Amino acid sequence: MSAAETVELGFDPDALREKYRAERDKRIRPEGNDQYIEVTGDFSHYVDDPYVTAEIDREPVRTATEVLIIGGGFGGMLAAARLKQAGITDILLVEKGAGFGGTWYWNRYPGASCDIEAYVYLPMLEETGFVPRQKYTNASETLAYCEVLAETYGLHDNALFQTQVQKTQWQEQSRRWRVTTNRGDAIDARFVVHSNGPLNRPKLPGIAGIDRFQGHTFHTSRWDYDYTGGDSSGNLDRLANKRVAVIGTGATAVQCIPHLAQGAEQLYVFQRTPSSIDVRNNQATDPQWIAGQAPGWQDRRRTNFESLMSGVPVKEDLVGDGWTEAFRDLFGQFREQMPPKWRLAFWALQGLFSPRRRERGFKQYLIDRAMVYMDVPSKMELADFKKMEKIRARADALVQDGAVAESLKPYYRQFCKRPCFHDEYLQTFNRDNVTLVDTRGRGVDAFTEQGVVFDGEEYPVDCIIFATGFEVGTDYSRRCGYEIVGVDGLTVSEKWQDRLATFHGLHARGFPNSFFFGPMQSGFTATFTFALDENAIHTAYIIEQLQQRQVTRVEASEAAEQDWVDTVIRKARLTEDFQKSCTPGYYNNEGHVQFKPENTFYGGGPIEFFGITKKWRKRGKLEGLELQA
Ligand code: NDP
Repeated sequence: MSAAETVELGFDPDALREKYRAERDKRIRPEGNDQYIEVTGDFSHYVDDPYVTAEIDREPVRTATEVLIIGGGFGGMLAAARLKQAGITDILLVEKGAGFGGTWYWNRYPGASCDIEAYVYLPMLEETGFVPRQKYTNASETLAYCEVLAETYGLHDNALFQTQVQKTQWQEQSRRWRVTTNRGDAIDARFVVHSNGPLNRPKLPGIAGIDRFQGHTFHTSRWDYDYTGGDSSGNLDRLANKRVAVIGTGATAVQCIPHLAQGAEQLYVFQRTPSSIDVRNNQATDPQWIAGQAPGWQDRRRTNFESLMSGVPVKEDLVGDGWTEAFRDLFGQFREQMPPKWRLAFWALQGLFSPRRRERGFKQYLIDRAMVYMDVPSKMELADFKKMEKIRARADALVQDGAVAESLKPYYRQFCKRPCFHDEYLQTFNRDNVTLVDTRGRGVDAFTEQGVVFDGEEYPVDCIIFATGFEVGTDYSRRCGYEIVGVDGLTVSEKWQDRLATFHGLHARGFPNSFFFGPMQSGFTATFTFALDENAIHTAYIIEQLQQRQVTRVEASEAAEQDWVDTVIRKARLTEDFQKSCTPGYYNNEGHVQFKPENTFYGGGPIEFFGITKKWRKRGKLEGLELQA
């Protein structure tokens, strides 16, 4: 790039690229995921349920059921709701919490909220008639909405709360799964839906002395309001005479830190990598606007949002927020840089081969060719640099102390980590009672009886709050917390030890009559509930069909599974290079990229994926599934 171009841009892309590399390199730790400790043994109290008001006392359940759903979060609730819509009511739902909500049951920390727009995030709004109060909903409203959903579909009657599945074992003779739990239940289920959540198991940093600290500690996903006072809207009045340390500055920390700063006498924020903090701009819902929406509006809105997020052209941006702006900037590069004639041809071809009409084989080929011709990756990188320069400028504009502002600037590409949107976080560091301890990529050095140590300095505190996230990339059974033993004693861990293999991300050969909800080899959406709803709709359709056809055993065929794995590999979009260039985190296996194209999402994007499953349903042949009466 010429000097004149650099001046016009206001930054030097080569220098930025080098800075990103240096910042990444100093964060890569040889131990990768092993830097974290599992919340078992001496640490198992970190997963105790602080929200339960009364322990349920009940006799073990010994019964048979048609469908057993594991998980009472949005995925499990949607599965139950969609099954009931299809007339299937013999359902049991097993959930370890004392109520519905899943991630929202556990994550009630002060400030917890969702920065995907509520009108797309909260599923089935048209069915329930619920109107979110604001564009971005918060934890208490989301949890209340889970109750609305549960009431609408009578889900309480089907739920076993405070119950943890320990094992699901396939029984070939009865063609049922024997599901056993920590309450002595033994339930024989024809079908099992695994909707156990991708971020459900908290993790702790394996820092020397973590078990020595004598003060109070907890993880953000088990917030101790008895200790802090207040609730998820803040007002942490019991911290008024307390010195508090927060470890971590990810999406969770960004939301709770402003409330901790208001409540605590002194707050120390221990930062390893800063998050990117964009504008949020929450607004009250206009009741007239929502009342005026035509039927089907929510599906159109979430499809519009996810289309924009995955580069599928749309005429308008219905959501219009920081997410869509970022993706418009990134994907817009591609089309805007085209000569007008190309653009016209491109749009015409896109219409001709629209995802709704054909699977994207030839169109994808054209796009890939054009991407190479137009040097799109470089242009996307430039758009990303520009966006991140704006994010960094925001820190300068909002944080008074220049050195602190500098520490809060993220130097990596925006989607290397979960982007954050917050209008009070950065200003929090202007408060006298808040100290940012910038560990410059190293992390905290040690804990003592009294506090936290970094760079030879001890910070004495009364309480340490771990905002250190959740296990990702560890073994499936370890994360979900139960064994899954299929045909001939094959376990899920064994099957997926080296590589993931599924059919549509939902079925796995060797595990008949099972449905696995989640993004791997499936459609990955920013609006996680959208993909879960599509999983639920698809599962309900299949089970309804199986019942109609009096099928008692269903399993993905070997050929179908292999074919789907091949498709996922062919479509893989996340490039090894991009992942390797990123600062470490759970998105890239803590920087130890073991790139296997099959161990990822469906690369054609969620809209295309949902199109594939929809067409599969429409054909009505249950192709790829081996059925036995
Ligand atoms: P993350 O994994 O994103 O963040 C963990 C944090 O802990 C990081 O800042 C990490 O630093 C830090 N950390 C780990 N070890 C150490 C150490 N030894 N010393 C200092 N810091 C350390 O977890 P979150 O709970 O924040 O978020 C998890 C996910 O949940 C998000 O990615 C998002 O998908 C979802 N979420 C969404 C929200 C929303 O809608 N707004 C809100 C909250 C969560 P480093 O970055 O260097 O690894």
